[in-house]
Amino acid sequence: MPSVIEAENLRFAYVRVPVLEDVSFRVDAGDYVGIIGPNGGGKTTLLKLLLGLEKGQGNIRLFGCPLEQFKQWHKIGYLAQKSPVSQSGFPVSAEEVVLMGLSDRHGSGVSLSELKQVHEAMQQTRTREYAGRIFHDLSIGQQQRVLLARALVSRPELLILDEPSTALDPESREMFFNLLGELNARRGVTILLITHDTGEVGKYISKFMYIDKTLVFYGTKEEFCHSQTVAEKLGAFAQHTIDHLHNHGRCPLGGACGEIKND
Ligand code: ADP
Repeated sequence: MPSVIEAENLRFAYVRVPVLEDVSFRVDAGDYVGIIGPNGGGKTTLLKLLLGLEKGQGNIRLFGCPLEQFKQWHKIGYLAQKSPVSQSGFPVSAEEVVLMGLSDRHGSGVSLSELKQVHEAMQQTRTREYAGRIFHDLSIGQQQRVLLARALVSRPELLILDEPSTALDPESREMFFNLLGELNARRGVTILLITHDTGEVGKYISKFMYIDKTLVFYGTKEEFCHSQTVAEKLGAFAQHTIDHLHNHGRCPLGGACGEIKND
């Protein structure tokens, strides 16, 4: 089976300012990848390259197909850092926002099967109870779940999210991450997520990707704990606390990792 994403020697510059160099990796079906790294390190740019929103050098294959020929965009759900819906003041209902996620719709009518998809996505994200309410009247946490429903409405196999939890309060954040964890574990949705909530997301993810102008680290949580490169970049303490396993004494190294047990 082909990988969901294959990236080979990606390189990108904004007007001759290098942003990403020498980035190669693959993401397999069912992976849940947490992308971390310093601000300005090129994480958002990487997602944009994968989605064809920016064009750089190198090769990208999505579901085995070269990006240039890829047409099955319904297989990918994307939740951007700043959604145009959140920024416009247009009075649309939550349900209409979700419907917008069906990008290949024709005409103005809504078919029964489209409605079914909208209801299903709102069910999954527990947003059906406010389907008829104006999007902008909802809390930030509710809005973010509606936007997640919009990303899910085409029943994507890959979900790409750019810091979806930044504006959320701790309770909404936990709910949001639980939801993503469920989608990955129960429905096998592959997830690529930029986040600063490393402790929270560490409960669910299977792999870490550390981007700082290049691919500094990419591997499982266990490999993350052992990585000398990560230790050099983050410092050993951060390396061993960023990952949920350590915080809960379930480090693969045994005990609370040994290395930080007195902290
Ligand atoms: P991250 O997501 O890791 O914070 P970004 O991919 O957003 O990093 O940005 C990487 C670098 O590219 C930063 O130095 C940022 O200032 C720059 N950058 C981002 N978008 C643009 C743009 N549209 N034009 C010029 N420079 C940009």
